[in-house]
Amino acid sequence: MTHSPVCPKCKGTMHSGFVADAAHGQMLQSSWSPGEAVPRRYIGGVKVTLDEQVPLTAWRCTDCGFVEFYAPSA
Ligand SMILES: [Zn+2]
Repeated sequence: MTHSPVCPKCKGTMHSGFVADAAHGQMLQSSWSPGEAVPRRYIGGVKVTLDEQVPLTAWRCTDCGFVEFYAPSA
């Protein structure tokens, strides 16, 4: 994403980042998945279809701390 959103709460400046997710000893980027989260019965976690994952970009307002997510198409 090339634009810098203006904070909808305070009109401050927002900077892009991502949400780091700790899993199995490594850090991953959180992703958007369609539908509802369905738990996996025996191995834990939730069911996902890898083809449907869209990495989340998180914009954070440096003035008030508001965070907004985008999941742009690749
Ligand atoms: Zn703000």
